[in-house]
Amino acid sequence: MKVVVLSGGVGGARFVQGVVRVTEPSDVTVVGNVGDDLEVLGLHVSPDLDSILYALAGLNDEQRGWGRAGETWRALETVRSLGGETWFQLGDLDLGLHLVRTQALRAGEPLARITLRLARALGVEARVLPATDDRLRTWIRTPTDELPFQEWFVARAHRDEVEAVSFEGGAGATPAPGVLDAMGQAELLLVAPSNPYVSIGPILAVGAIREALAARRVPAVAVSPLIGGRAVTGPADRMLTRLAGGTSPAHVAGAYSGLIDALVVDEADAHDLEGLAGVRPIVTRTLMTDLEARRRLAEAALGAVAA
Ligand code: GDP
Ligand code: CA
Repeated sequence: MKVVVLSGGVGGARFVQGVVRVTEPSDVTVVGNVGDDLEVLGLHVSPDLDSILYALAGLNDEQRGWGRAGETWRALETVRSLGGETWFQLGDLDLGLHLVRTQALRAGEPLARITLRLARALGVEARVLPATDDRLRTWIRTPTDELPFQEWFVARAHRDEVEAVSFEGGAGATPAPGVLDAMGQAELLLVAPSNPYVSIGPILAVGAIREALAARRVPAVAVSPLIGGRAVTGPADRMLTRLAGGTSPAHVAGAYSGLIDALVVDEADAHDLEGLAGVRPIVTRTLMTDLEARRRLAEAALGAVAA
């Protein structure tokens, strides 16, 4: 079955590992968020694309949730000893990828082509694409500041409440080559259990991607990133409380209003299925502890086509 998955970093990457175990990996296109991208020490870093690539290549660090397994930090120690910026952690193994990508970008190669090339070199069979080749950056408005995404998320450990999220460059951004074709050919459109506001939001800020999803002729299924109304990691629950007024399945579905037909929710949220406004709930266990749990969750989401 041909599928497209809209994905952020950690939650998205875990889910995508399941998707490629229930359908032919070469039939899977992952559209990744680039709103978190940043320049660190002169290097272009695409954290969410990298989480997806590393997870699909089996190189990801399970404990940390991001970056590579068996990572070392010697380059960063040198940076620190020289008084360089170290707030954003880049491991030695990870750095190699950033070097290759940054050089290619400077030589004028678009991000999507580079990402496809990196995926191939890593032995990844699924197609991994950025939502856009254009510059699109997420900004976070807190009660006191307007912060670039990573300054809020990493440097300030997302402790500030979020009043609004905006996407610099979103309005003018066009989908990366291949994204709309993949969406047009897919038999199922999936939204990973990623943060709706800061992981999926920037992808949907690309107008033509949102329109393609809204005009779909095949089912679209989102997986909730919440279990028992709480985020497994990160600030999604706090953001939903503040920006949508709650953390029930209806509040999650509301973030994708008009864009999804079904929402996979955890058994822990099955008591609270009011107000889904035509979105069909699919209740299952959604904690992606290991590869088998990820595979089962993907199977539940893909089951929406048969149903
Ligand atoms: P980021 O870009 O690295 O922040 O990652 P994502 O936005 O893709 O993923 C973060 C979201 O994944 C959080 O809202 C988590 O609640 C969710 N998440 C992480 N692990 C799990 C899991 O095992 N099950 C479910 N349902 N959600 C998860
Ligand atoms: Ca992210």
